Amino acid sequence: MPGHKTHLAAELACLPLCLGAGYGLGLREELLPLGLGYLAGSLFLSPDLDLYHSRPARRWRLFRALWWPYTRLFRHRGLSHHPLLGPLTRLLYLSLWALGVWTLAGLPRGEPPPAALALPFLAGLLLPQLLHVLLDRL
Ligand SMILES: [Zn+2]
Repeated sequence: MPGHKTHLAAELACLPLCLGAGYGLGLREELLPLGLGYLAGSLFLSPDLDLYHSRPARRWRLFRALWWPYTRLFRHRGLSHHPLLGPLTRLLYLSLWALGVWTLAGLPRGEPPPAALALPFLAGLLLPQLLHVLLDRL
């Protein structure tokens, strides 16, 4: 099983390839949200958030405690490492926290981001996580 540094190096090495492929497919203004989503997925929403003492969990610094329940809900390399359900669990989990904080703070509802930006961001979030799971399985 590759370690954290190997995962991160492989994921970051593939970022230019993904952006280049996106450019080749005709993406232009979508490249920035794609790249930002990719970095967020690689650095902050790694499948290894199922380990409380993992590097991705420690990157959350003060907010790392938010992920403690996630580590209790999902055992290491279980559902959290499923190619599609894993990222979905983390997005839903984080969304529930954000919704709770948003509601408790009484903040007004805003407009959702336009799909033209949200979809490339979500695709960017997903790609490094797929690579992570692939490397874990090799
Ligand atoms: Zn892993």
